[in-house]
Amino acid sequence: MQEEDVRGRRFSILGGARSGVAAAELLVSHGAKVFLSDRNSEQAMASVAAELRSMGAEFEFGDNTDRVLDADMLVVSPGVRSDAPLLQKAIRRGIPIISELELASRFCSAPIVAITGTNGKTTTTTLAGRMFADARVPCAVAGNIGTAFSQVVRSLTAGTVVVLEVSSFQLDHIATFRPAVAAILNITPDHLDRYEHDFGRYIASKRRIFENQGEGDVLIYNADDPVTVEAVGKNPPNGVTLLPFSTRKELPQGAFLAGGVVTVAAGGMEREIIPAAAISIRGEHNLANSMAAVLAAITRDVPVASLRATLKNFKGVEHRLEFVRELDGITYVNDSKATNVDSVWYALRSFTAPLIVLMGGRDKGNDYRRLREPVKEHVKTIVAIGESADKVVAGFAGVVPTIKAATMESAIAAARGAATRGDIVLLSPACASFDWYKDYEHRGRVFKEIVNALPPMQ
Ligand code: ADP
Repeated sequence: MQEEDVRGRRFSILGGARSGVAAAELLVSHGAKVFLSDRNSEQAMASVAAELRSMGAEFEFGDNTDRVLDADMLVVSPGVRSDAPLLQKAIRRGIPIISELELASRFCSAPIVAITGTNGKTTTTTLAGRMFADARVPCAVAGNIGTAFSQVVRSLTAGTVVVLEVSSFQLDHIATFRPAVAAILNITPDHLDRYEHDFGRYIASKRRIFENQGEGDVLIYNADDPVTVEAVGKNPPNGVTLLPFSTRKELPQGAFLAGGVVTVAAGGMEREIIPAAAISIRGEHNLANSMAAVLAAITRDVPVASLRATLKNFKGVEHRLEFVRELDGITYVNDSKATNVDSVWYALRSFTAPLIVLMGGRDKGNDYRRLREPVKEHVKTIVAIGESADKVVAGFAGVVPTIKAATMESAIAAARGAATRGDIVLLSPACASFDWYKDYEHRGRVFKEIVNALPPMQ
């Protein structure tokens, strides 16, 4: 974005969470007139109000009024639904709508590695960031993962690689966003409530990550996921190097296993990276995530020896199949971030020991039939928790024994009672957490606190 596109122009920002506030700051620093609107109450937004005031931005809380439409451009936060009436009005008035991702990218001259997918984004983004850092390639990790892109973009130095975790909601409102390297990890049904229950629309949103790519860019994608393969194959971008990855078959180009060794074929070269067994994070899904990260790092010239070290050392991200404790021969694992059926499917297949699984929470329209096979194979007992406990019990009736629990304490006690030496107690809910908790992190922390406080058996 050129300074003249911003200075003195009026921008309205919908949504005052982290990315909205960072967008306000970025715009104000370039001389824009900023108005931020958030439906949360003034009381809830007190600290945000203070921040906005100190930077000289105007705001309203408690409602999104038509004042938002008094703008040359609208920046929407990922939490705002595309069918929100105010957005429809803006469209009718011809006011351009962009996401915070689009906005920040207009101020970014550094190369971007953008990672999307239904599951695995945070793990892969963190791992790729670690690969660059370990190889001493200057890099900034941002996006959905925590630090807003708009915040990071203000202090980028030349030669820095920006590794971004990108959600479909951010992609919904891009226009020119063009990552040098894009990765699609997988596309499975999730968030369909935001896409009119139309899987096709969710897929279309994910595809947008490469819509502006061209000559010299790289697109990494999951060759084992038929939905992703079709999404890429339908209309691959011109001049883009396609680098697929597969944990199941060898490929002429991309990343795959050859005799159990992660191998990369790219640029006419074939390189052995690391035996799959030496990668620290476990499960087939994490092998896939590792391959995606390896491809991203290799396209930016990270040396193989350094990649190998990172893959051996990286222990994963909190709340994703996180080891908590071993007590009386029983292992406790926190996978609170498993908020959809597909992530649980992979979690169950990541273990060989018998599992006692805590499942349930706020249901997003789950179909548990997909889990019946792996449950039959890996699970001894399911402890049903949260608002959707009855649905979980019904979903696995006749498959494995289920126990309904009314609190996390009683769920853990029931799981412990059902487990014997060598078993694993796994929190992998397949549901959102907002019934009992603030967010999935809160749920995971509560689980860990209770587990860590358990006394050994007599
Ligand atoms: P995201 O940021 O896309 O939500 P995370 O890395 O936070 O992804 O992982 C979310 C959940 O999905 C965790 O339970 C994790 O174990 C599981 N998971 C991670 N990678 C994958 C994958 N490639 N396929 C399926 N599930 C995955």
